Amino acid sequence: MPEPPSRYVFILGSVLSGLGKGIVTCSIGSSLQARCRSVHIVKIDPYLNLDAGTMNPMEHGETFVTADGGELDVDFGHYERFLGMEVSKEQNITTGQIYYNVIQKERKGEYLGQTVQIVPHIINEIIRRLEEQRVKYKPDIMIVEVGGTIGDIESEPFLEAVRQMRRNQKKFVVSTVLLTFVPFPKHLREHKTKPAQHSVRELRAAGISPDIIICRSDVPIGKKPLEKISNFGNVPEEAVMQLPDLKNVYEAPLYLEKQGLGTQLRQNLQLEAREQTPDFSKFEELQIRLQNLKGKITIGVPGKYTELQDSYISVTEALKHAAWTEGYDVELRLISTEEFENNEGSLKILEKMDGILIPGGFGDRGTEGKIKAIKFARETGKPFLGICLGFQLAVVEYCRNVLGFPKAHSTEMDKQTPFPIVDLLPEQKNIAQLGGTMRLGNFEITLNKDSMLAKLYGTTKITERHRHRYEINPELISKIKGDLVFTGFWNKLAETLELRGHPFFVGTQFHPEFKSTPWKPSPPYLGFIRAAINRNNAH
Ligand code: GLN
Repeated sequence: MPEPPSRYVFILGSVLSGLGKGIVTCSIGSSLQARCRSVHIVKIDPYLNLDAGTMNPMEHGETFVTADGGELDVDFGHYERFLGMEVSKEQNITTGQIYYNVIQKERKGEYLGQTVQIVPHIINEIIRRLEEQRVKYKPDIMIVEVGGTIGDIESEPFLEAVRQMRRNQKKFVVSTVLLTFVPFPKHLREHKTKPAQHSVRELRAAGISPDIIICRSDVPIGKKPLEKISNFGNVPEEAVMQLPDLKNVYEAPLYLEKQGLGTQLRQNLQLEAREQTPDFSKFEELQIRLQNLKGKITIGVPGKYTELQDSYISVTEALKHAAWTEGYDVELRLISTEEFENNEGSLKILEKMDGILIPGGFGDRGTEGKIKAIKFARETGKPFLGICLGFQLAVVEYCRNVLGFPKAHSTEMDKQTPFPIVDLLPEQKNIAQLGGTMRLGNFEITLNKDSMLAKLYGTTKITERHRHRYEINPELISKIKGDLVFTGFWNKLAETLELRGHPFFVGTQFHPEFKSTPWKPSPPYLGFIRAAINRNNAH
């Protein structure tokens, strides 16, 4: 039997970034999964960082942590949530990794006698990396999201790799999906197709013609502009689709399916129909649930990166998943903690919240405000969930205000504190480099069998993802007495806390949000949301 061809879908973006290429990629994956095909996703990031770990979340959205400790882009969170699969850090390929490998090979003498160049060496390395994963994971279809927008200098080598793969029809069957933007200027009150036309032209200049064009817009696009894009783009009308803003991202696979995305992909990829009707039931069921919500709760998130929702996207998603499961909608209020530090009265805003969540974070800014918010939650019985830094600060707050160590702190914020209840472990103290030196990824935690968390998880052995450097100081932990109890451990390190006598006051050193999906909400989030709903109903 001849080898089946290697099937690839490439998703390319144009006009501007932030159009939701990740969601389109997930929709394509879902469409193929609904047709009984296995997929493997790779995301190419055209920057020189080796991974996203050291990048500023203000610029790129949150860092998503994988089970194997990868610090990746927000899009990987979408992949896991939509497609129900765990991704590995090797699924993220950056320009940095490609050049690093090529230069290492050059040093080892693997290209002896040759002039090492972008074409062919860099391009070959890109294709080799993709093929390596195809061979390892053996999916029916490889889906590759190419970061950046066409026309960027950075993306050029990747476009050239796509062009070469399309050309090699003996080995590859490739479908190229172009995501573009169709603006609707208010003063004109009509959709303008010129940016889309230009982006197709730009792609053609790189030697690639799109097979499918997906048009993003704020409001639905009429037939005419889409016909125009089909005509100027030289793409059949059935292959031009639109994706206006939707009520929730999980609607996207259904929205595109209705326009024939699956059929187009099947034709492009030369796939036989394997199913009677494609199975989108999980997305349909979710949309029905979302149309029948009973009410809404409000969660206050005192934090630092208040300007950009994306910095906490997994947290916001996990809150939504838990609330939706309980039949509620959830509104998040990102509250700048800097306010709390200067103005005691500003804490009043927390009274209106049904629950308070302190997410992960780094550095000193806003810390004292977060501690004030935690004290407020502890004293007023407001449901509280502290994640990572939020967990650490809950312990600091308790040491200061209940146990009487007024200067207790984390050495991350105060190197001189006389009561370093949160500290680096001795083995970490000498690590100078900042990239990739954290406790990252999966660790197995043992929960007390009578803890609230063990009940929520339904087990005492859990595996959750981590991303932090500092720990509850094992040398001082015995000083913590009273209602605050550490209920989960990994070796000797405290992983979870619960406050006895409080309706819901829980902290986790790990980040449970990374494993949450709309169909499988995260247990700590679920407990928190239930408490917030009770609180809401009681008022
Ligand atoms: N800054 C803290 C640490 O490094 C917490 C990290 C986090 O919240 N992700 O331990």
